[in-house]
Amino acid sequence: MELRSMSDALQFHAQLLKVGIQNDDAARNVSKLFTFAALSPGGNLSYARLLLRSIPRPNSYYYNTIIRAYSRSPDPTHHFHALSLFLSMLHYQPPQPDNFTYPFLLKCLARLKLTPQGKQIHALITKTGFGSDQYIQNALIHMYSEFGELGFAREVFDRMPLRDVVSWTSMIDGLVNADRHVDALALFDSMLKAGIEVNDATVMSVLRACAETGALSVGKKVHMIVKEKRIDSKANVGTALVDMYAKSGCLESARNVFDNVVDKDVFVWTAMISALASHGMCQEAVGMFAEMETCRIEPDERTMTAVLSACRNSGLVNEAYVFLNDVPKRYGIEPTIQHFGCVVDLLARAGRLKEAEDFINTMPIKPDAVLWRTMIWACKLHGDTDRAGRLMKYLKLRKRTADDDSGSYILASNVYASSGKWCNKAEVRELMNRRGLTKPPGCSRIEVDGTVCEFSMGDYNHPEAEKIYDKLDQIVDEIRKEGYNPRVSEVLLEMDDEDKAIQLLHHSEKLALAYGLIRNRQGSEIRIVKNLRSCEDCHEFMKLVSKIYQREIIVRDRIRFHHFKNGDCSCKDYW
Ligand code: ZN
Ligand code: ZN
Repeated sequence: MELRSMSDALQFHAQLLKVGIQNDDAARNVSKLFTFAALSPGGNLSYARLLLRSIPRPNSYYYNTIIRAYSRSPDPTHHFHALSLFLSMLHYQPPQPDNFTYPFLLKCLARLKLTPQGKQIHALITKTGFGSDQYIQNALIHMYSEFGELGFAREVFDRMPLRDVVSWTSMIDGLVNADRHVDALALFDSMLKAGIEVNDATVMSVLRACAETGALSVGKKVHMIVKEKRIDSKANVGTALVDMYAKSGCLESARNVFDNVVDKDVFVWTAMISALASHGMCQEAVGMFAEMETCRIEPDERTMTAVLSACRNSGLVNEAYVFLNDVPKRYGIEPTIQHFGCVVDLLARAGRLKEAEDFINTMPIKPDAVLWRTMIWACKLHGDTDRAGRLMKYLKLRKRTADDDSGSYILASNVYASSGKWCNKAEVRELMNRRGLTKPPGCSRIEVDGTVCEFSMGDYNHPEAEKIYDKLDQIVDEIRKEGYNPRVSEVLLEMDDEDKAIQLLHHSEKLALAYGLIRNRQGSEIRIVKNLRSCEDCHEFMKLVSKIYQREIIVRDRIRFHHFKNGDCSCKDYW
């Protein structure tokens, strides 16, 4: 009898009870019933567990199947159940864990982030002789990556005599998730050299690393591979490609990929709308949203964020208000703090500081640290020191939460610094220290000859550091003739103006730019990716360099793109 639902299964079970479960045939039938209940979409896992109890001498298959079923569940309680079932195998039951037990068990441990237990079980695996099983090794790499223990993951990986696409992808994905994108790309290169064929998961991880680092040439290579494998029209791969091209500043390529995707889902639409938004093409983004609605694809929270950031990047206040009022009602989406944040950012940057503050006060959800940071940043931009001071009080009242970041404090202290109030600045610093917040390091990346180079402020680690600093001095001499004046008020430290100018000159994006001018072909574009917002001095610097050196410079900061050409920027100084 074929089992399609639990009611079929119950009927089948009743038949089995009638004939008894002693002979071989019956044992096969019990196994069939059990597997259906445990693993089929229409099954019932608790029923499978009950069955397990009624089986006289269950072999490891039964335990493994239940652990496997638990590992597929999104519910953490199930992952704990898997662990306790495994422990009962070790302590009370005759079937011992085998090579089919561990991969699923390790998956549960990874989900639960139980690092010490994971390490203990790894030791047990080695002791019981399963350490050389490829599936188990792959699962160990994945587990250690999820724990953030990349050293352990790498050790397992390096010791594998045979690595398949899953081993490579797990290791690459681990690096990408730990924001070690440059290492991930290097490993991907070794993977290709080892002649391993990529799969969807590899492509998606690698494209994420390309997008984050701006490694366009690697991204293009992946696109070629994907085309050869004819998976470029799949929605998941297409989404990753659109995102990579958009974040590398190639909007047209992103659009071509998008058009090529066959069954467009909400993710690929959202990626394309975000792409337009980050390039400041607000009208197009809003138009694309309408097109998506015509195709009867329902937007989600992220689509809303994409459209609202389009409005923010182009200063369209009314459009944003209308959108925030209409769309959530139409699709039953609960607006999130990101959505309100976009509107606050939009009002604040437009200088409508009071309106922004009123908006925050009437929001149905509590403002978070990012929102305050936005406000304080705007106060700095518009020179409203009093309001910044008042907002600081909100920060002091708030308890330290997970979303606290040092950004808001830095900005507040920046406001005080530029108005010369050193005493308040010290207060902010102290508050930061007490809450264990330190400034995130700024860094910029540039791709030269297919390799991504990373610079931090005042970096001397690069082999060509000397040349780079010489180039910088030379650039400053050139652009000073065009009226460049270092904006020393941007520097927070107490020092004289000459030292401040040197500080500014050593900002990571300027180092990357100088290196780009040395190494990139004459006339080619220079693409830089920065992890934070650029300062005003760097922005001005890029504009002047684009004019004097006749180079297009594309800088992606934390929020958007700046396309510098002929002394102007695509953001029209609105960022
Ligand atoms: Zn700067
Ligand atoms: Zn700009």
